[in-house]
Amino acid sequence: MTRAIRNARPLGGHDPIDLLVDGGRIVGILPAGIEAAAPDDLDLEGRFVMPGLWDEHVHLTQWAQHRRRIDLAPAESAAEAAAIVRSALARGEAADAVVVGVGFRDGLWPDAPSAALLDSVAPDRPIVLISADVHCVWLNSAALVHFGVDQVSGADGDGVLREDAAFAITARLDSAPDDELDRWVAEAAAEAAARGVVGVVDLEMRWNRDDWARRVAAGFDALRVEFGVYPQHLDRAIELGLRSGQPLAGTVSVGPLKVITDGSLNTRTAYCCDPYPDAPAEAYGRLNVPPCELHPLLARGSEAGFELAVHAIGDGANRLALDVFAKLGRGGRIEHAQLVHDSDFARFAALGVTASVQPEHAVDDRDVAERYWPGRTRRAFALRSFLKAGARIVLGSDAPVAPLDPWVAIAAATSRTRDGRPAFHAEQSITVVEALAASTRTLVAVGEPADLVALDVDPLAVDPEALRTMPVALTMLGGRVTHADAALRARAALQV
Ligand SMILES: [Zn+2]
Repeated sequence: MTRAIRNARPLGGHDPIDLLVDGGRIVGILPAGIEAAAPDDLDLEGRFVMPGLWDEHVHLTQWAQHRRRIDLAPAESAAEAAAIVRSALARGEAADAVVVGVGFRDGLWPDAPSAALLDSVAPDRPIVLISADVHCVWLNSAALVHFGVDQVSGADGDGVLREDAAFAITARLDSAPDDELDRWVAEAAAEAAARGVVGVVDLEMRWNRDDWARRVAAGFDALRVEFGVYPQHLDRAIELGLRSGQPLAGTVSVGPLKVITDGSLNTRTAYCCDPYPDAPAEAYGRLNVPPCELHPLLARGSEAGFELAVHAIGDGANRLALDVFAKLGRGGRIEHAQLVHDSDFARFAALGVTASVQPEHAVDDRDVAERYWPGRTRRAFALRSFLKAGARIVLGSDAPVAPLDPWVAIAAATSRTRDGRPAFHAEQSITVVEALAASTRTLVAVGEPADLVALDVDPLAVDPEALRTMPVALTMLGGRVTHADAALRARAALQV
């Protein structure tokens, strides 16, 4: 049955239109008011309409849990982080057996984290603190015992684990009962829909297929989801005949093969062409998967029908990933692409490699980047350089690293600042039109999916600060309403 969405205004000051929706798609677009109104029409009363938003890189289960954990983002030293945990415990927060805090950024801390410092907060309860970039965890002695980790010492300080050792701890923290995790994921998805999101690429580091099959069976339908497959699960995925783009169930389909080739900026494990300034143990960062392993791995994924998504943050890791794409003779995606060598931007375009970038990281990490990538930040988070070179970019949050909110990413991409600071390399900003194009997959056009967002104001006509908190009146996924604000709900009988 065809349903009409009336009095919708396209962005950019055009005349209002009526959209006809049927079978989840837009089947007609007419000037507003030409056809007689019907009782189940949805009247947008002149609100602005645009395609639904995508967050191209999230860890949805992590994000769902993150929203419930101790927030360490304000900590400017290890001592402050410990104090935040102490007061959270004093307030009776963190009721679980293991106390978990998230979001610390130790790149610029004057003091070093240690197990002993957290022991002074709680000697007997395990405490696990996860860095904002999730590549580092900091444990107290009780947690080291709880997780069976030998005391670590040396360059990283005791109680601090990085990369695979850190991922192993965070994976074990995910062992909340499935039904509880699923409930939190449903809450996080509803909140995303309320920000205009219709789809996410879920790169949770798990065997995602079973999680998503279970969630769809339990009624999940708030977002389109493409879930990633990691190398440790590739055999299993191939055996089951999974391939990218294949529908799993409901709104969920198979996403890319995801390979993490280097570390991160804050942890100084991003693999770079130049050494880090203060000579850490691994001067150039860490290459988790060298090209001699990356090539056969991507070849195998490619042959099995997977889209390829390679995590590369340092310019060294980006260059090596591009080399492998060149050998394979096919494109794909590089996730993050934070630091890229001048001569490599054009290779993204030439090889058909999409840069899957997270603009808010530029704002979060500008000071850390100046310190660890001195003299190189003009080609860090370099969105304009990608577009100038003819490469395609898509925007995401990497939630929980940044909030799952495309308007935050769009504001960061266009302003490259927040809180009134001057822009970080303003020459690398992109326009709102470009940021919206990189955050959507469809058009408001006949034949396209009815994945739509309605807004009270035109995002092309507001300043970046307003973009960050853009109110969303309505979100529609395949013609079905997944979010409506109070004003719309009061006027129309909307099933959400
Ligand atoms: Zn990620």
